[in-house]
Amino acid sequence: MLARMAEKTLAADVAVVGAGLAGLVAARDLVRAGLDVVVLEARDRVGGRTLNEPVGPAADQVVELGGEWLGPTQERVAALARELGLETFATHTAGDNLLERDGRILRYSGTIPSLGPLPLVEVGIAMARLNRLARTIDVAAPWTAPLAAKADEQTVASWIRRNVRTRAAREALRIAVEAVWSADPADVSLLHALFYIRSGGSFERLLDTEGGAQQDRVVGGSQLLSLRLAEQLGERLRLQTPVTQVVHDSRGVELTAGALCVRARRAIVAIPPTLAGRLRYEPALPAVRDGLTQRMAMGAVIKCMAIYDEPFWRAEGMSGHATSLTGPAAVFYDNSPPGGSPGVLLAFLEGRAARAALRQTTTLRQALVLDGLTRLFGPRARHPARYVEKAWSEEPFSGGGYAGYLPPGALTDHGAALRAAIGPLHWAGTETATIWNGYMDGAIQSGERAAREVAGALG
Ligand code: FAD
Repeated sequence: MLARMAEKTLAADVAVVGAGLAGLVAARDLVRAGLDVVVLEARDRVGGRTLNEPVGPAADQVVELGGEWLGPTQERVAALARELGLETFATHTAGDNLLERDGRILRYSGTIPSLGPLPLVEVGIAMARLNRLARTIDVAAPWTAPLAAKADEQTVASWIRRNVRTRAAREALRIAVEAVWSADPADVSLLHALFYIRSGGSFERLLDTEGGAQQDRVVGGSQLLSLRLAEQLGERLRLQTPVTQVVHDSRGVELTAGALCVRARRAIVAIPPTLAGRLRYEPALPAVRDGLTQRMAMGAVIKCMAIYDEPFWRAEGMSGHATSLTGPAAVFYDNSPPGGSPGVLLAFLEGRAARAALRQTTTLRQALVLDGLTRLFGPRARHPARYVEKAWSEEPFSGGGYAGYLPPGALTDHGAALRAAIGPLHWAGTETATIWNGYMDGAIQSGERAAREVAGALG
């Protein structure tokens, strides 16, 4: 182990890098196992890709600028919410949904948009085929699936081009892919997409509100999960402590964060793989791990919210949920807090649209989002009382969102490095999850798994 010049040195059994849900859950479990833990967090807050934004004086008048929804089968996040005394409420869905297409706004009820009969059938068949292919995947080792090599040679875009003929169906699938991965279909390996679908259950479950991943919300905002976990950790947690260097050997690790050096027997690195790849390792990590961190890109998403005195669209029979094939914002939700005051419309800029918007001024992209809201919900949408947005690609300690995704070739060649410990180094974070990969639930699963690995290794 290299001798360090540090102003302050700490010693612990386990050092956790990152106080998002994954790192905090790992730390909680290790403390419960009787181990001495220190958590190093770069930001001045916990929660990582979850972030509450108050929209009124009451404790429940909160919206989320990052991860937000919970859904059926996300048992870990539901259990954690219960354990921490948090309540959930249903995402608002009553009323007609909207589809903007070819300069027209179409209202529809239920989950089936008015795409026209042939495109609708095509979308249904395409989703059923993707679900069927996804069922052949072992989420713990997607690269072993019989179709792995073939599926990892192509992007979701090339699959759509070969399997879907009508323009409207292709467009609808593009928007569905962007809504799930915050990446363009041309960016994402088909194998990665199939793994992700399997990991969440089905394509519909990833997309749906009722019965799907957008079904419920946490009263007071999802960041409360992390804030409450952090309270339990007390002084074990150190904010504003970005780790830059990891020295490791068979005896343990030394992490450097500014003037602080932390020595531990094991470390859990609970940050997105691409950011983990930017740390300096001594000795350097094996090529398969380094290659993984080079290839796993973060999605691009700007979460935009227009806040109104009241949810006026509800009185006009609209749910607030809309899809626009025109863009640039393509997917919209009613994101009002419980009780509907204030009224909040949420618009997502995702994938290519987000990357284009990042090249614009915030004033211009706000104007484009408000244009879209006005086309969909009428002139009252033009003048919100307040407008907030969060561009996750501009967050140095996230690098983007919702999560990391893999381009062709990466999962077959580098997937095995996602979770494999390297000496005293263990990996957590939603990108390493097998269930609900990319979601808060997956982050929790990964933290629990990494804590088990470490507790097992330390006896
Ligand atoms: P992170 O939350 O990224 O935590 C990593 C932590 O490590 C951060 O706190 C970071 O500051 C810290 N860190 C980074 N680098 C360093 C360093 N060098 N040293 C020390 N600390 C460091 N999920 C859902 O389930 N439902 C949703 O509705 C949903 N919507 C989303 C919407 C958006 C806009 C975004 C961005 C994400 C969304 N997600 C959603 C995804 C969800 O937020 C994430 O899957 C989850 O929060 C990831 O948790 P994590 O602990 O794995 O990583």
